Amino acid sequence: MNFRDLKLIAPILKALEKEAYRAPTPIQEQAIPAVLDGNDLFGCAQTGTGKTAAFALPIIQLLSRQQVRPHTLRRIRSLILTPTRELAIQIEENIRAYSRFLDLRCTSIVGGVSQAAQERALQAGVDIVVATPGRLIDLIHQQHVDLQHVQILVLDEADRMLDMGFINDVKKIIARMPAKRQTLFFSATMPPEIAQLVQTLLVNPVKVEITPVSSTAERIDQTLYFVDKENKIRLLTHLLQDPSIVSALVFTRTKHGADRVARGLNKANISAQAIHGDKSQNARQGALNNFKNGATRVLVATDIAARGIDIDELSHVFNFNLPNIPETYVHRIGRTGRAGLSGIAVSFCEYEEIPYLKDIEKLIGRTIARVDDHPFPMTQTAPAAKAETAQAGGKQGGANNGRLTGKQPGGHNSQQPGKQPARAGGGQPPKAKSGNNRFSGGGKSGR
Ligand code: AMP
Repeated sequence: MNFRDLKLIAPILKALEKEAYRAPTPIQEQAIPAVLDGNDLFGCAQTGTGKTAAFALPIIQLLSRQQVRPHTLRRIRSLILTPTRELAIQIEENIRAYSRFLDLRCTSIVGGVSQAAQERALQAGVDIVVATPGRLIDLIHQQHVDLQHVQILVLDEADRMLDMGFINDVKKIIARMPAKRQTLFFSATMPPEIAQLVQTLLVNPVKVEITPVSSTAERIDQTLYFVDKENKIRLLTHLLQDPSIVSALVFTRTKHGADRVARGLNKANISAQAIHGDKSQNARQGALNNFKNGATRVLVATDIAARGIDIDELSHVFNFNLPNIPETYVHRIGRTGRAGLSGIAVSFCEYEEIPYLKDIEKLIGRTIARVDDHPFPMTQTAPAAKAETAQAGGKQGGANNGRLTGKQPGGHNSQQPGKQPARAGGGQPPKAKSGNNRFSGGGKSGR
């Protein structure tokens, strides 16, 4: 099936081409026609399944087909409620990308940032609002938001909104909308409160169920290295000495980070190229072709640039930075282990990323195996960091006694945070003991 079969209009198809989406994901195949037909929808699916486009594309199509008289103020015709600021911003970005060839305005209303710009956007008129409940309620109380014209409501990650204590806010928001509307409801789980909400909000919904992303994580061999930020490139270079890693996709948080990592690897004679949004389409395609035909061994990418990259035979994914959105982790590692390959995902965690690690492990429902016995153990420490890792250690059966990295049986790094000098100043990595590299089979702990 392709997007054309879903009866999407030309400007949307063109935008999807630009995003390099080739074919709809299962949830998109099922949800898009149902929503275009005006049905309510209950989707049991998590982020990482293509859920955003599954609701955003038909919304964009339905709204863009309505005549809006010129010079009249735009009204909020679709509201998308989502639990976190990061998700809201991500959804807004997606909607902007999918509707780039259409005349629609989308804005996000989230906490933690100044309210003034959001007020201005609302006053100027907007078609689609993506919001977290708390800030939206504030703006409703201050009379900045009118929800009387909402035709399509999306409740995204309803179970997480419940967990985060937003459910009453959500109910208050819904009470401000017309009863006659289309409602699209997404939740990965069905606690009783959610089941009740579904009962009261949805009318004859079409049900779409997609295997949760957490199951992706189960078939992939995942390991985690605690390492100081400035030693990450050395650790990566060290691990890539393993010739069994034929090709690897390395994820970085930023474009500059991607360039830096690619430069660092090339300096160490490991062929690498970076792809990110600042590179021209030709440069990106060139890098991708080189990677696919084996001319470059390592592709370094940001999440945005990695979208739509279709590489089947990828054995290793490296998370040079841990993502702050836990679903992104699952999505990244899901790029390996396809086509029957045994996928291996290796993550580096610096001190500041420890909270992200906790979120990721909560989402996938397990502790990622730590590799403690490596040449660049983390030295950065602070009271909060000790508390964090003590907790992580507890989950692993107390193997590391609250140290940032635990001593392995037979390992060599019974490092004491703060005592071991950082190697940030340069110098060659000390030679690893045989068997202490994850890729040669040793040094694992705490599954
Ligand atoms: P979501 O589950 O909506 O967060 O989507 C996960 C990721 O998949 C995002 O990076 C999307 O841009 C990407 N994506 C969504 N649909 C497709 C598709 N049909 N083809 C390729 N990538 C997609």
